[in-house]
Amino acid sequence: MNTRNETDRLLALRKLNLLDSAPTEAFDRITRMAARVFGLPIAAVSLTDSDRQWFKSRVGVAHASIPRIKAPCASVADSGAMLVIDDLHEDAFFRDSHLAHSGVRFYAGAPLTTSDGFNLGAICVLGLEPRTISATERDALTDLAAMVMAQIELQHTLGRVDPLSGMPNRKQFIEDYADLQMDRPHGEQRVAVLVNMANQEQLNNAARVMGASYFDNLMNEAIISYRAVMGDEHKVYQLAATQFITIAPPGAGDGAYRARLAHWLGSRAEWSTSRFVTTPAIGIAPFQLGRTDCLDVLRIAQNAMQDAHQTGQLIGTYSSAQDDAYRRRFTLLNAFDAALGDTSQLRLVYQPRIDLVSGACIGAEALLRWRHPELGDVPPGEFIPVVEQTSMVRAATSWVLREAVRQLAAWHGAGLQLQMSVNVSAANLLEADFVSTVTTLLNQHRMAPGWLELEVTESAIMENQGTALATLAALDQAGVRLAIDDFGTGYSSLSYLQSMPAHVVKIDQSFVRNMAGGERNRTLVNTMISLSHELGFRVVAEGIETDDVRQLLHDQGCDEGQGYLFARPLAPDELFAWCARAQASAAASEATPRAPWKPICAAPAPGMRTAT
Ligand code: C2E
Ligand code: MG
Ligand code: MG
Repeated sequence: MNTRNETDRLLALRKLNLLDSAPTEAFDRITRMAARVFGLPIAAVSLTDSDRQWFKSRVGVAHASIPRIKAPCASVADSGAMLVIDDLHEDAFFRDSHLAHSGVRFYAGAPLTTSDGFNLGAICVLGLEPRTISATERDALTDLAAMVMAQIELQHTLGRVDPLSGMPNRKQFIEDYADLQMDRPHGEQRVAVLVNMANQEQLNNAARVMGASYFDNLMNEAIISYRAVMGDEHKVYQLAATQFITIAPPGAGDGAYRARLAHWLGSRAEWSTSRFVTTPAIGIAPFQLGRTDCLDVLRIAQNAMQDAHQTGQLIGTYSSAQDDAYRRRFTLLNAFDAALGDTSQLRLVYQPRIDLVSGACIGAEALLRWRHPELGDVPPGEFIPVVEQTSMVRAATSWVLREAVRQLAAWHGAGLQLQMSVNVSAANLLEADFVSTVTTLLNQHRMAPGWLELEVTESAIMENQGTALATLAALDQAGVRLAIDDFGTGYSSLSYLQSMPAHVVKIDQSFVRNMAGGERNRTLVNTMISLSHELGFRVVAEGIETDDVRQLLHDQGCDEGQGYLFARPLAPDELFAWCARAQASAAASEATPRAPWKPICAAPAPGMRTAT
């Protein structure tokens, strides 16, 4: 026995996943037939493992395996030839074998050989009396061995080809990738090319109108032309109804290869009957054999392909920077779910809102903060948009609302009569029970609805106008105040502003920050303020950082302001102390003009007690 061949043989056997698998009727039927054809009590499909003969199927044998040493089936596997022993007791080699000792006299075994030439073992018949074998019986045993192999290969192929197209599938890709890692030099640079013939929306639309079989044709013509243009050596694997992947030959992946791919897609008019209905995209995933995991290749090829779809390009190439961004988003998503159930990670800070005429602090905006145990502080500008794309946004806003209303009630209880602003997301406005959740919460804390203001952005309203406006109208009806946040960055259409049941417009900080920069910017803000006043809104300027800007806004008639000039977002006890200090300093300098700005607090100072 050649050791190298034996290693490969064992590998081939193990890859079939037959060893120690449960008995199946398909094999047992052949074994029974073998015993019947020979009129013998014992027959088996016997696979040659490293140290044992294991019976995939057996008739007339109690045990599942026998030692490999001196087993006749092992000799069949070693030689690849049929072996017939008329009488084991008379055979010089097998006389003291396990079989001979157990009373077996006659043995005939035919090799089970794969299409790659590996001998897996034998199908054998055994008798308790010496016997000979006829030429017809030899042929029958050879046929039975072929039937066993057909069954083995059928089972192996099953699950590895797409049942409709007959193309190798994802499972086969993973197996072939493992083989490639073994056959080719470690570290060899290769590229995988993933082709998607239609984006998700097109897939849904076409499936509705034309039926799913429409894609079989689409894929068929794409694969045929792909191999014609790119080369027959490309083995194509079908990943999904409209997707296939292939590994380019060594040396591909450069500009020339990319140009050929672009040419292939660009010439769709010549080979596709559905070119007007779908837009294909290609994702290129470079990888190194032995260093990149197969599932990673599939993942990064998908990402590159989706980027191509999103950016409207034909071909996208995986970039590690983009991949890091995806991974970070994914990590944040998973971690945020845990954070919602962990009181140590989430907290609210509050930024004071100042009446620009009186200088009084009249409210606070609740802003969410997340400190992840390993990642540290994650800015809301990063995690909120990620959470907003999932159903977790419901739980997130609910958490913020509960905490903010609890704090509002605590401050009121301590004599600090502020209004509380809470940011809500587009998806919250579509929740059927959103209004009742808010009003129930206010009732629980015995707070009049007017003390709560909900901030929504223009784009949140536009995303699903009908339902969003209905929710806002119901909140307005319930007495809750509403503000349009980041005003000026979204649609800002006059017609929608007129129909908005809101009370406040918050001018986005990008406009406010630029005010000191020039006349045009000041005019722009001035126009926003006048327009909002005309429509009956109270106007708040966000992001006031300097006293010059505060003065300008004050002169333009802006009602309220928020920004680092007054205070950064503060912890609840800090905000309470800040208000107390503001109150004291206002009392001390009552008669003197306040320049630069000094805050006074709306709350009566004597009644204020610590409240967090
Ligand atoms: P926003 O609602 O427009 O909140 C104002 C943002 O501007 C806050 O950023 C605040 O810290 C910052 N800011 C305030 N004054 C100044 C200033 O003078 N200069 C500068 N440069 N920035 C100032 P933050 O806390 O990072 O929040 C960012 C955004 O994240 C918020 O913008 C809001 O859209 C969102 N967000 C925060 N908390 C929540 C929440 O609980 N729920 C929802 N849905 N969104 C939230
Ligand atoms: Mg806001
Ligand atoms: Mg804002």
